[in-house]
Amino acid sequence: MKHILMLATGGTIASKETGQGLAPAITSREILGYVPAIGELCRVETIQLMNLDSSNLGPSHWLRMARAIEEHYDQYDGFVVTHGTDTMAYTAAALSYLIQDCPKPIVLTGAQKPIWYDGTDSKRNLTDAFLYACRGCGGVQIVFNGKVILGTRARKTFSKSFQAFSSVNYPELALIQDERLLQYITTGSRPAPRFYDALDGSVGLLKLIPGTRRELLAFMADHYDGLVIEGFGVGGLPEYDGFYDVVRQAAEAGKLIVMTTQVPNEGSDLTVYHVGGHLKHTLQVLEAYDMTTESAVCKLMWILGQTRDFAQAEKLFYTPV
Ligand code: ASP
Repeated sequence: MKHILMLATGGTIASKETGQGLAPAITSREILGYVPAIGELCRVETIQLMNLDSSNLGPSHWLRMARAIEEHYDQYDGFVVTHGTDTMAYTAAALSYLIQDCPKPIVLTGAQKPIWYDGTDSKRNLTDAFLYACRGCGGVQIVFNGKVILGTRARKTFSKSFQAFSSVNYPELALIQDERLLQYITTGSRPAPRFYDALDGSVGLLKLIPGTRRELLAFMADHYDGLVIEGFGVGGLPEYDGFYDVVRQAAEAGKLIVMTTQVPNEGSDLTVYHVGGHLKHTLQVLEAYDMTTESAVCKLMWILGQTRDFAQAEKLFYTPV
């Protein structure tokens, strides 16, 4: 029987009603008590890493999750991380950079309704996550509503429905139906994981709107070492008001700038229009192409944890994990 470690971090799945809305309060042991059938799938141990709404999680928590997996890596066949859905896509991306080439499954899951709720999705998601941790592919993945999504490709696209996550610019890896796993894409076999232990949280995200003021971009460029700019369409910057000069000065000051798009699908392509091509051809900026914004943000944090050198950063940024 496979031996799986569950790392509990909170989220709706673990939440109780407080009178002012749901808040995590149910422990990992109690969660497992609601789904005894998991005990027939595998041997489980749990660690309660934290019990927080995922709005409260950030780089320091991602490092704790990665460290817990590293410390217990040899004793287990796979890992299930229970997590709030709101920032799960960021955590999945961050863990994908912190734990690379992992031959064992690291599965994030959670729910839109708490585990005690009639008709909850918690029990299905949790059972599917353990099933995938026993039989699925290595690496970081989200298992939710019967879908298996690569950790760097997930985005929360529904705020209430059970089908909370989509796989962006990449197919779903597998489906789980009635406890049967249909694995469409495998992540390949790897010998051993590489763990990283640094992230630099000095990364900001600016979503442009028509009429965005240059001062906002300048403020962010001043206050962060890395900046992701979500432009329109295939990407670019407004040509009024000195936006270009702000980005030029930031890039010259050694800030890492990533240009991406706020369009949900198909990614950026900066050189199509002058608003992006001018920037790409004349400045040291990076481009996210088909990456999700969640992944671009977390990859930038991971890169800034290692280097400020543009050439090295460029190599790391464009090397898929
Ligand atoms: N607010 C919750 C969280 O992200 C939502 C959820 O888990 O579905 O922690």
